[in-house]
Amino acid sequence: MKAKPIKKIVVVGGGTSGWMSAAMLAKSFEKTMEIELIESDAISTVGVGEATIPPIRSFNGYLGIDEMDFLKATKGSIKLAIEFQNWGQKGDSYLHGFGYVGRKIGITPFHVYWQKCLKEGKAKDLSSYSFNNIAAQANKFAPVTKIKNTPLDGLSWAFHFDAGLYAKFLRHYSEDKGVVRTEGKIVAVHQDSESGCVTSVELENGTKIEADLFIDCSGFRALLINGALNSGYEDWSKWLPCDRAYAVPCSNDNSPYRPYTQSIAHSAGWQWRIPLQHRTGNGHVYASAFMTDETAAEILMNNLEGEALKDPMQLKFTAGKRSKIWDKNVISIGLASGFIEPLESTSIHLVQMGITNLVMHFPSSQDCSLNARDYNNRMDFEYERIRDFIILHYHVTERDDSEFWNYVRTMDVPHSLQQRIESFKHNGFVYREDNELFTGEGWLQVMVGQGIIPNYHNPIADQVTVEESAEYLQNLNVIMERAAQQLPTHKQFLNSL
Ligand SMILES: Cc1cc2nc3c(=O)[nH]c(=O)nc-3n(C[C@H](O)[C@H](O)[C@H](O)COP(=O)(O)OP(=O)(O)OC[C@H]3O[C@@H](n4cnc5c(N)ncnc54)[C@H](O)[C@@H]3O)c2cc1C
Repeated sequence: MKAKPIKKIVVVGGGTSGWMSAAMLAKSFEKTMEIELIESDAISTVGVGEATIPPIRSFNGYLGIDEMDFLKATKGSIKLAIEFQNWGQKGDSYLHGFGYVGRKIGITPFHVYWQKCLKEGKAKDLSSYSFNNIAAQANKFAPVTKIKNTPLDGLSWAFHFDAGLYAKFLRHYSEDKGVVRTEGKIVAVHQDSESGCVTSVELENGTKIEADLFIDCSGFRALLINGALNSGYEDWSKWLPCDRAYAVPCSNDNSPYRPYTQSIAHSAGWQWRIPLQHRTGNGHVYASAFMTDETAAEILMNNLEGEALKDPMQLKFTAGKRSKIWDKNVISIGLASGFIEPLESTSIHLVQMGITNLVMHFPSSQDCSLNARDYNNRMDFEYERIRDFIILHYHVTERDDSEFWNYVRTMDVPHSLQQRIESFKHNGFVYREDNELFTGEGWLQVMVGQGIIPNYHNPIADQVTVEESAEYLQNLNVIMERAAQQLPTHKQFLNSL
């Protein structure tokens, strides 16, 4: 018998992931599929999640959302980079900027020349060759895509935004495209006795809502993927021991409106500062095995740049991901699919990957085991590469001032990460796998920023003299500095909205 086509999709949950999923599905399938989203006003969303990375622009672009409308609606700001303080050592600081660093010559990456000049004392720090980092440090921004009269690209940017307002914005968008929103608390999940597939969810008032495919966006509760299907969880806490966070917004009256996120390491975790138009988002992510809740909350409250606007809210999590992110006819997206702490702002990106990949692997019928297999391979790859990148920040450090730092500095790390660190230490080779999310420049900035200087450089850099290389570096830096000076401040840009 021919398998039936997918006609109806139910999205469970109305947080950031629920509404991003509904919007993307509506945009892609509005003419052929019925889409319903169920959420319960009685169960709040996680309420944090305010920093993103540049691919969010293509997500909004696919939906046809105007960037300026989006910034206004979400009280958003621009993000060019993340500033890491106290990571390699207490007191130090570096930027991981989006976009390029320097400019390669032929097939040779820029950093090979930079390494050679650095050893000879003829190079500035790596950030001096990143247009994003130079503009970020000067608190400047304009949406420039080229540096005038040069072959150099302009800025690469993402956003900070109020996640609650983003969900609201996407709700309007989705409802306009025919998505039906149902308010109600799900109290039971029904499955087919033979296949185990989910057939319907039941609300508190007894209504049963049926569908062919279910998107589980129910947050850490993971109602379908875990509650009903029990799809297993890969626990990564031995590498990422932070398992709790306090979050609190504060006023931004004295804010310099930095166009970047700050990540400040403390003795058993780190603190974020995310500048929005109307407030600053703050949080302290920490490992409960190494720090008490009281101390964690105190550290956060003592390190705010403005007046706290609420009491701090605590969140608990376990780093890892579902063993099967797509199981039977349930696809988990967002916190229901797994969680990696927000050190590089990757969760909303994983929502975007999850829903984009679903559209790319969308089944033509209810027989979807092959689609699920391919989808899971892709999502596992994304999750694991991001996991390695986050572990890198903890592991490559000289900090030995607390039990926590001693643990993460000396722990065994995944083999894939160990090899990358070894290669870079040995000869400065930055390995990037397939289409993994973070670029070679991203890996480079973090490895250098955390204190690795390679033992050797590729001999191709010796084909030019050190003076010639130094002149090349100097010219790039001067061009970028000049171009940054001509930009308006980030605050002027936001005021122009
Ligand atoms: C401390 C912390 C900091 C973070 N910072 C960032 C960041 O800077 N950048 C970033 O990209 N991401 C960040 N994230 C992640 C980000 O917050 C989430 O990825 C994003 O908000 C998506 O959450 P969600 O929609 O999956 O879940 P939730 O927001 O928890 O939404 C769950 C939804 O399910 C519904 N629901 C649950 N149970 C039921 C039920 N029984 N019946 C009906 N409805 C139900 C709820 O009503 C709600 O609508 C952070 C997360 C944490 C924990």
